[in-house]
Amino acid sequence: MTLIKQDDVIKSITDALQFISYYHPVDYIQALGQAYEQEQSASAKDAIAQILYNSRLCAEGHRPICQDTGIVVVFLEIGMDIQWQGSMSLEEMINEGVHLAYTHPDNILRASVLADPAGARKNTRDNTPAVIHSKIVRGNTVKVKLAAKGGGSENKAKFAALNPSADIVAWITNAVSSMGAGWCPPGIMGIGIGGTPEKAMLLAKESLLEPVNIQQLMEQNKQGQILSRTQELRLELYEKINALGIGAQGLGGLTTVVDVKVLDYPTHAASLPVAIIPNCAATRHTHFTLDGSGPAVLTAPKLEDWPDVTWSASPKARRVNLDTITKEDMHSWQPGEQLLLNGKLLTGRDAAHKRIVDTLARGESLPEGVDFNNRFIYYVGPVDAVNNEAVGPAGPTTSTRMDQYTETMLADTGLIGMIGKAERGAGAIEAIKKHKAVYLIAVGGAAYLISKAIEKSTIIAYPELGMEAIYEFEVKDMPVTVGVDVHGESVHLSGPKKWSKLIRR
Ligand code: SF4
Repeated sequence: MTLIKQDDVIKSITDALQFISYYHPVDYIQALGQAYEQEQSASAKDAIAQILYNSRLCAEGHRPICQDTGIVVVFLEIGMDIQWQGSMSLEEMINEGVHLAYTHPDNILRASVLADPAGARKNTRDNTPAVIHSKIVRGNTVKVKLAAKGGGSENKAKFAALNPSADIVAWITNAVSSMGAGWCPPGIMGIGIGGTPEKAMLLAKESLLEPVNIQQLMEQNKQGQILSRTQELRLELYEKINALGIGAQGLGGLTTVVDVKVLDYPTHAASLPVAIIPNCAATRHTHFTLDGSGPAVLTAPKLEDWPDVTWSASPKARRVNLDTITKEDMHSWQPGEQLLLNGKLLTGRDAAHKRIVDTLARGESLPEGVDFNNRFIYYVGPVDAVNNEAVGPAGPTTSTRMDQYTETMLADTGLIGMIGKAERGAGAIEAIKKHKAVYLIAVGGAAYLISKAIEKSTIIAYPELGMEAIYEFEVKDMPVTVGVDVHGESVHLSGPKKWSKLIRR
């Protein structure tokens, strides 16, 4: 019988969550390094370079890889020969660990979890509760697999109860093609097949915690080794998903996924449940075992393990002064062109947009200091600053969630540009074209690097919304790419189209 102490569980969870907030798994980062070497699309290569450089900065600075520090997901395998020492339930221990990790003063993480999701959506302020899955198994240890999943990638999860004769590969490839880039590729696609609907989703999630090793599997296949059906599926899906040409950040390119993982389980004769969950550029997970000898010991990766890639802005990048810009200045900007933003911009995401649009609908004025005339808005919910930072990691959030507000924002507030990540929907593109506005993208998964370009941050309105408040940022050479130009040309439509053709040639 092994005695597991409450304090060891709490400390292990806290340490592991801090660890994965700033250390990418080495297998992912090395696979991304290979993707960088192979990439031929200039925009996608630049985006991968930003993700890799950001990753190294985070490992060195112990600050989060992404402003979305995720919702905590824990898989437990609890040995039957375990005794617990302490007064808390296991769930309470884990949530105490989450609380301590997310409020850690040296590396405060963003609290993104909201209680009452269909109602008040109130932030729990410490990212609790975690989502916990446990299994009782033989043995006398507790095995823990823990991940922090970003909302952008979780939101792209798909499920279907397919007809048993359906073409699984065709369904998955179509589903990935419809996901857009809000899940911040390049990443990993997790597939769960079989069981029941909820089992398939769990398999898809758990598959993402396996090592990145598709290159080894390709080698085994080349050498003629006999593969299982799930291994064959991995190879076929890897090739077909990358052939979609989505590329890094959806800009069009060779690598959309660095691996595809598949787990399966027996299912009912009438059923073929299939689930997909992507893992994004902020792939974060670690594993440890508690055996009664104390808290988990996590070994930090060596900086030599990171690909030797640094990022600097292209010498051709156009510098833009946000304080003097007019709509006319934006006419010559091309989709895919890199810009370096300087001056002041406002921030706002879901909750702030809703309040703004509701305020305007009531015929009331926006809060003092909120003036969007001739200005840009950045869709971001930053991490709180520590030490002498102006702001913590501050990468973009998925823009499509703001599509419903775009026409009102452009027509009624004087706003001329937006910055976010991934594609815009048809309605938002129409509004951009109609108002001769622009949409720019920053790289999702490069949040700490982007925060280095933010010199000052002031809360202007709605402080009670926490990270969703409206801030004014003063930026210096903040790197962005033109996503939709004043004519409504979208790089997320033209890029993947061009690269899927080139790949299939
Ligand atoms: S990389 Fe993208 S999807 Fe992943 S956590 Fe960050 S913003 Fe969200």
